[in-house]
Amino acid sequence: MALIVQKYGGSSLADADKIKNVARRIARTRDADNKVVAVVSAMGDTTDDLIALSEQVSERPEPREMDVLLSTGELVSCTLMAMALRSMGYKAISLSGAQAGIRTNSSHGEAQIAGMHPERLMQELDNDTIVIVAGFQGISEDLDITTLGRGGSDTTAVALAAAMGAARCEVYTDVDGIYTADPRLVPAAHKLDDISFEEMLELASYGAKMNPRSIELGMVYDTPILVASSYRDEPGTLIHGGADMNRQVGEIRNRVSGIATDTNVSKITVRGVTDRPGIAASLFEPLTEVGVSVDVIVQNASVGGSTDMTFTVKRTDLARAEQVVQQVANDLGSGEVVTASDLAKLSIVGTGMQNAPGYASAMFRTLADEGINIEMITTSEIRITCLVNEDQVAQAARALHTAFDLDTTD
Ligand code: ASP
Ligand code: MG
Repeated sequence: MALIVQKYGGSSLADADKIKNVARRIARTRDADNKVVAVVSAMGDTTDDLIALSEQVSERPEPREMDVLLSTGELVSCTLMAMALRSMGYKAISLSGAQAGIRTNSSHGEAQIAGMHPERLMQELDNDTIVIVAGFQGISEDLDITTLGRGGSDTTAVALAAAMGAARCEVYTDVDGIYTADPRLVPAAHKLDDISFEEMLELASYGAKMNPRSIELGMVYDTPILVASSYRDEPGTLIHGGADMNRQVGEIRNRVSGIATDTNVSKITVRGVTDRPGIAASLFEPLTEVGVSVDVIVQNASVGGSTDMTFTVKRTDLARAEQVVQQVANDLGSGEVVTASDLAKLSIVGTGMQNAPGYASAMFRTLADEGINIEMITTSEIRITCLVNEDQVAQAARALHTAFDLDTTD
């Protein structure tokens, strides 16, 4: 008997009929003589609705209370799922994150898993019972309910699969896998059969949906993650760490796996920053303190002892960041602070680009031929990112998709 850990996303559980549909899928997996653990997200937009509700009663809801509130969304779907399965004649039980043994630190809202103690869950499985686990939540050492950050049910599922030694974790959602690009921007985008953890991490942080922490967990514990449709029986995309079965040595393969785009980008420039040790630290430390993460950073060579410092933050963090930066700039006696919000991040991602020259220049040439100006550039070993004008990002993504041979599936 194999142990299968599945996760179902909120859009696949949005109403009673959808819950029954998922219950039938879980039952089928059980019928195939598997032990089944199914992790569920909150129904539809429940989490957003609960956040909106909290904002109506409090300007600044306490993170601890917020976590208890948000954890209820997943409790609703997991209890309903257990009921649906029982009414179909199956042995099933719902467990909260705490009951499933998911221990976390006490960073409310973004808690990190500190330990897994799934003994109770294992007992139920040994009893031939299907276990439905409420995703996205755990319990701290102080017995406070915590949540794992938005999209955290993915993390719950991968953590359980890893802790229980499942062969893989199956994530079912309303799309049929991971795409070469955002299909809304690039009509020729198509589903990938497989992708490496590293590539998926780059795509996840650039728009495609999967909680990045779940991918990190899969990578650390070498637990492959299958992402597939919860409506159709199609193979989906396997996210894995091993050598690629489809890409044999010697075979000419496409080294770029996908194009990532992100429009949640703003740029801040501080002019006339004195070029001396400690300036970058004094600029970025206060941003860290208010929880703003800085992404692409460019510092020009100084002319006459002063330089410009440009960096990007999430557009949703711009107001907060600008306030902090303006304050620091005043204290440092720097020049003006200028911001722009009409930018987008555009990346080509591929493990195969490591040690292979020419990808950056091919990307720049493609953008140049489209008449698209590059504002900033940054790279990692498996990614090249350009910042371009937001209104050109779709055109740019389409051109790159074609230039790097992603338009065809063969
Ligand atoms: N319900 C939570 C959210 O919407 C967790 C999840 O869906 O994975 O972020
Ligand atoms: Mg959700």
